[in-house]
Amino acid sequence: SDVLLDITDLKTYFFTENGVSKAVDGVDFQVHKGETLAIVGESGCGKSVTAMSILQILDKAVGRIVGGRILLEGTNLLELSNREIRRIRGKEISMIFQEPMTSLNPVFTIGNQISEAILVHQRIAKSAAWDEAQRLLSLVGIPSPERTMRDYPHQLSGGMRQRAMIAMALSCNPKLLIADEPTTALDVTIQAQVMELIDSVKTQFGMSVLLITHDLGVVAESADRVVVMYAGKVVEQGEVGAIFENALHPYTQGLLQSMPRLDEDQPIGDLPEIAGMVPMANDRPEGCYFHPRCPKAMDICRQQMPELTTHGETRDVRCWLYTPEASNEH
Ligand code: SF4
Ligand code: MG
Repeated sequence: SDVLLDITDLKTYFFTENGVSKAVDGVDFQVHKGETLAIVGESGCGKSVTAMSILQILDKAVGRIVGGRILLEGTNLLELSNREIRRIRGKEISMIFQEPMTSLNPVFTIGNQISEAILVHQRIAKSAAWDEAQRLLSLVGIPSPERTMRDYPHQLSGGMRQRAMIAMALSCNPKLLIADEPTTALDVTIQAQVMELIDSVKTQFGMSVLLITHDLGVVAESADRVVVMYAGKVVEQGEVGAIFENALHPYTQGLLQSMPRLDEDQPIGDLPEIAGMVPMANDRPEGCYFHPRCPKAMDICRQQMPELTTHGETRDVRCWLYTPEASNEH
């Protein structure tokens, strides 16, 4: 099958003094082999928690996966032992973050960290691991890999650190690379270079990429398909070109309208924004979670949550505007 990762009805809740927060509230999507799938939404939509749930790196004191299935080539990751999931994390799925300093250890050199990562999974000599690490640094476009091997993370620029992080992520030859806002902390020109790098290593390593981003510009440039999340739920998903051409869900439409366009010389401050805020995960409205912000809200929207329904071959949308029940109302 061409499905690498198959997520069904994933629910990740946070149990806090202020009650239960349904951060991920019944999410379904698939990542196909060789594709880049983007998850997009404003902050607080549950996209990072979805990514952390796949790798089971949630803060266990408060966060728990309470339901669903995460199949990696047929194996349910939620049924694995801690030891087995650690193996998946190092060998099948790698993750890179917005700020590489959070995953690079400041007291070890880049060379040390990448070769250690290699040695965890390969029975090879230390010197061979060192050579392999240096090869990976050169593969990710670091100009003087031999010198960078001996550098500490703080000695690198943000862009070079992200490249080093990508080299480390590649060291286990993963099937899936999860990239959570990988370019958000970088300058615009560096952002484009890092996204190009991710795209090129995806092809070279035959991986799939799950890209978490709030930036539709990045989605347009880099992703094949996109999942739009709002308040812990998928509200629309489909092929990137088709969604940019004809977004169905009012939230997706709002995101697109508030996206800066390169071909228009428009100051960012003049862009329309979606009025209002994502509701807190422990304080969501009745009905469609988007209705307080939706310019097209109808009576039924305030009462009942719409289902995710399929439109055409490749599009899903969760909105009463596209469900037959709603048409009885008018
Ligand atoms: Fe807007 Fe109603 Fe659709 Fe929700 S279901 S997005 S409120 S039209
Ligand atoms: Mg995030």
